[in-house]
Amino acid sequence: MRVLIAGGGGFIGSHLVDRFLDRGDAVVAVDSFVTGRRQNLEHLSGQDRFWLVEHDVTLELPDLGRFDVVLNLASPASPDDFATMPIEILETGSVGNRRLLDLATACEARFLLASTSEVYGDPQIHPQREDYPGRVDPIGPRSCYDEAKRFAEATTVAYGIHRGTDVAIARIFNTYGERMSPFDGRVVNTFIVQALANLPLTVHGDGRQTRSFCYVDDLVDGLMALCDSDCRGPVNIGEPTEIPVTELAERVIEVTGSSSAVSYMSLPDQRGGDPQRRCPDIEMARLALGWEPKVGLVEGLTATVDYFRGVERLP
Ligand code: NAD
Ligand code: UDP
Repeated sequence: MRVLIAGGGGFIGSHLVDRFLDRGDAVVAVDSFVTGRRQNLEHLSGQDRFWLVEHDVTLELPDLGRFDVVLNLASPASPDDFATMPIEILETGSVGNRRLLDLATACEARFLLASTSEVYGDPQIHPQREDYPGRVDPIGPRSCYDEAKRFAEATTVAYGIHRGTDVAIARIFNTYGERMSPFDGRVVNTFIVQALANLPLTVHGDGRQTRSFCYVDDLVDGLMALCDSDCRGPVNIGEPTEIPVTELAERVIEVTGSSSAVSYMSLPDQRGGDPQRRCPDIEMARLALGWEPKVGLVEGLTATVDYFRGVERLP
């Protein structure tokens, strides 16, 4: 197959690139590197089934040939980005996603949108099922991302119905692993960097807010299964074990063997609208894709910590 991965230079996108190449497909990664990193793809130089195109998907796409699959992973994804580039995020989820849908439609390719658990906003139903419409504040601090992804979902569904495009939507929950950008402000990488430097781990608020952390290999298994299926979704792909942020801090200290303390701090200004609980119901993924995560938190953290110890240039 010929596969286009928009956002292929990012954390999750670069793992998907590897996975398609490993099974013999040809891959074109399109990335503006607004948040992604060239080093995520450095190991592929000289690989003859891989091409990197540095391009912003909100702009007209160059002629890249025909594809069997188009995956849209392109979007800044850290809450710290929501405060600094809201317009770019909105453009990427609207104009950028539409350009990729047009390409997939013209090629009669399967199209997969990487959506997010953020479409559920600050949910009041736990765990979140795909039929829960969510609780998003349309003008809140996270609205640029949440509404961009909701608009992207709506556009994707409309293309499926009105243009006959073969579409699928994955709602990805918090994912961590190798190649996360160490300083993008997301919690797992931030805690690991702090722990490796024996600095206090900065827990926001009282740390009782929960998340469910999925290891990237599991997540990519789920996205590949969705890609290869005829399921349209939206389908939740995530780890159903919900833990408070304070417990994540303890696990990171344990796995790194760090002497760091845990420091409780008030929620930074740019972090308004922090959801209190988040946990996926993954019954649909189990039934439709035969998928569920396999890697536990300590095992996944150990691999991630090894990566940060070995590869990243940390202060
Ligand atoms: P990331 O920032 O590492 O990857 C996103 C990639 O998209 C980056 O390489 C970035 O440079 C690229 N990009 C952004 N805007 C672009 C544009 N206009 N044109 C071309 N490239 C552009 O983040 P990630 O964690 O790998 O997230 C990948 C996707 O998965 C995103 O769409 C994100 O919303 C979604 N997602 C991620 C998580 C998570 O926990 N990591 C959770 C839910 C959803
Ligand atoms: N968080 C934290 N300390 C940090 C970074 C994040 O306590 O240094 C918290 C954040 O407030 C949120 C959770 O960890 O409650 C997950 O944050 P992240 O940015 O990873 O993802 P989110 O799920 O909020 O998009």
